[in-house]
Amino acid sequence: MSLKFLDNISGKSSLTLLLSSCLFMSAASAATQSSVNTGRANCGSLANQANTEITYFQVPMQKQWIKNQKAISDKEYAKYFSQTLVAPKSMVKALENGPLPKKWVIEPTVEGLNKVIETFDKAPVAGYALIENGPLAYAQSRHVFPGLTSSMLEWWFTWHPIESERYMLWFPQAHIHNSVADPQRLSNKNLSYAERLYKNPNHIIEYIGANYLDSYIHFDTPESLGIDGAALKKAGFTFSASGIIAPAGDEDAPFVLMVHLGRDTPQGLELINRYWIGTHASFDRFPSFPNGAKRSAEVVKKFGLDAKSLEEFAHEMAVHDMTEFTCLGNILPNMYKEYGKGK
Ligand code: ZN
Repeated sequence: MSLKFLDNISGKSSLTLLLSSCLFMSAASAATQSSVNTGRANCGSLANQANTEITYFQVPMQKQWIKNQKAISDKEYAKYFSQTLVAPKSMVKALENGPLPKKWVIEPTVEGLNKVIETFDKAPVAGYALIENGPLAYAQSRHVFPGLTSSMLEWWFTWHPIESERYMLWFPQAHIHNSVADPQRLSNKNLSYAERLYKNPNHIIEYIGANYLDSYIHFDTPESLGIDGAALKKAGFTFSASGIIAPAGDEDAPFVLMVHLGRDTPQGLELINRYWIGTHASFDRFPSFPNGAKRSAEVVKKFGLDAKSLEEFAHEMAVHDMTEFTCLGNILPNMYKEYGKGK
């Protein structure tokens, strides 16, 4: 992660963080934002009455949208690039209630991960909290995407990292760069999804709120993180894009444990997301990240992260997740129809 991340998280932008807690919806400003798209299912579609428009973006994200619009303008898929974004009212409301009640704050241990699988359908649809025993920022969500399937999401994770502009479609104000260590392997249609994506790190740069993150996602099997494969199967999960995220410059430090698990339901794809950001004693268990507890603690110290900044970051992460996945769920069925043929 960059110095800019440190500047923001250590309090210089606390006003921005504070503002972002309360200003992301206002029906009155709907008319002030325009969308590149018109008349199709796009990121800003309010066809689903359960959604509301997001009308607050931090200044760095507003500026990034202008850069991204320029970068994507000559791409065929630019028609899926929006300025107007929406989110489910139920998720917005859940985040307005403040940090999650203690019973829903789960630690990133093997036991914690398996508790997620047992309790996800009863947990609040969105939430955030500080985990003091770390410390860690914790964010969670449960999305249901009508018209979306797990195979469409698998296609997305093997298609979009080939060009940063594709990544921009996912969150037009926040996503800056994505590239993959071995693009040939990621694009090889003779290999399985797991063979293409796992152990093939994605270099991502994005804003989480006003915080600039530069890091590497190491996608791997859910089992490698400690999730019980049999329990996953029993619950009907067939999709995963889960792994460890290490900051640029500290590539050996497991700074984020990220879980995206999906299952096909009659209502559409149900996606369970969890993020643990910071340090934890249990981060010693990942074979690819020796001394993970110590290395992540050093990164937390280096970035000047404390309880206050991590709690704010947890909230920003929850807002980011709610926004980007709602956007992706809106555009992906049509994009898959157009570009996903033959996968
Ligand atoms: Zn993102």
